[in-house]
Amino acid sequence: MSTQLVEIEAAQAAERTSQEIVQENRDYTLFSWSVQGAANPMLMKRAEGVYFWDGDDNRWLDFSAQLINMNVGHQHPKVLEAIKKQVDELCFAGPGFATEPRGVLGKKLAEVTGLAKAFFTLGGSEANENAMKIARLFTGRNKIITRYRSYHGATMGSMTASGDPRRWPVEPGIPGVVRAFDPYCYRCPFGQKVETCHRECVSHIEEIIQMEGPNEIAAILVEGITGSNGILVPPDDYYPKLRALCDKYGILLIDDEVMSGFGRTGKYLATQHYGIKPDIVTAAKGLTSGYMPLGTVIVSDPIAQYFETHMLYGGLTYSGHPVSCAAANANLAVYEEEQIFENVDTQGVYLADRLNAIKDKFDCVGDVRSIGLFSVIELVKDKASKEPLAPFNGTSAEMAKLAMYLKSQHLYAFTRFNMLWVCPPLVITQQQLAEGLDIIERGLALVDEAL
Ligand code: PLP
Repeated sequence: MSTQLVEIEAAQAAERTSQEIVQENRDYTLFSWSVQGAANPMLMKRAEGVYFWDGDDNRWLDFSAQLINMNVGHQHPKVLEAIKKQVDELCFAGPGFATEPRGVLGKKLAEVTGLAKAFFTLGGSEANENAMKIARLFTGRNKIITRYRSYHGATMGSMTASGDPRRWPVEPGIPGVVRAFDPYCYRCPFGQKVETCHRECVSHIEEIIQMEGPNEIAAILVEGITGSNGILVPPDDYYPKLRALCDKYGILLIDDEVMSGFGRTGKYLATQHYGIKPDIVTAAKGLTSGYMPLGTVIVSDPIAQYFETHMLYGGLTYSGHPVSCAAANANLAVYEEEQIFENVDTQGVYLADRLNAIKDKFDCVGDVRSIGLFSVIELVKDKASKEPLAPFNGTSAEMAKLAMYLKSQHLYAFTRFNMLWVCPPLVITQQQLAEGLDIIERGLALVDEAL
């Protein structure tokens, strides 16, 4: 046999089938948020922009930007280049060292948030973990108020801080977490209508503060705009009122922008839509668009000043990782050079129009909520009664049918309980948005037929 033929044979033998790769993943690795026996991972072979390709070379339209983090889309050449350059130059420096990308990023984060200094973590959970700790150290108080329909991460403290049922398995978790209700206007927990309510979603927090002891509460931790519990866009005066409440009692406002920040709503911070400034911002996902793991806790000047003379108890081996910081710097440069936020504004208007039309067209759609390219369709059995198409913390045959249909059309979109999210990469074009929304419409027609 010729050497060439031997080489070809060896290459063929080495080439493993998609099934083999998936099986190895299943045999030797644990999958997040899964009963392992039911985990059914798809193989991702390659990706570009708003698309990725599976093990059978099917092209998928990524309508959830993976975990609502790949804001500049898959395999952006400028971010890849910056990572390669940094790897060649300096791959790692301990967290006590200064590096160029770390300083550049810190300065940029101060500029875009109006805050003072950034502490770096590896992701959102750790960012919230450290934000709560910093708030406790700075205020000398212990309790943290969070909201029920929230997710702040999967480490012990951030999972406890999360309000939704994902926290149940770690309860009682860390002490001192107290919860409040959300500005969920479609299903107002106070039975009110947004036009006539008295913003009970804020005023009841004052009662909680009174009952818990104003001097015990270090911070109120909220998602800028609630993401994985259904894009809860608050009334315009919600944040000014919440900010005033924090100021009245000397409580810090921690704004978790892990999902809603860095362009997802068309601004660096979702709370910038409401003209308020938090004391602490946490961010991750869109900070690097997922190209490298990175999270951050960005603090106000008074907090930064405090730590000039007090120990910042905490540190991580990979804090301020130079390659992650270089990826973030390149990613933030892409936002500006390619007018990504402007695209969010433009496509966000188109998306909102399409969603509103969808709400009118389909009986199974109770509500749609969006801000920028951060949106959700909430499904119901009946528009008048608002009975959810799947129970809270549960699923239903109809929701499963919808999810299966989207999958069959190779549309990758996130569904949970009775909701379907539309959160594509921020580089999406109108034509690509239309492509995915047309598929969703066909799926909703099937649900309507089944009801
Ligand atoms: N905070 C919010 C609002 C999130 O949506 C998430 C993740 O989805 C996190 C925190 C946790 O971030 P990570 O998964 O990077 O730890």
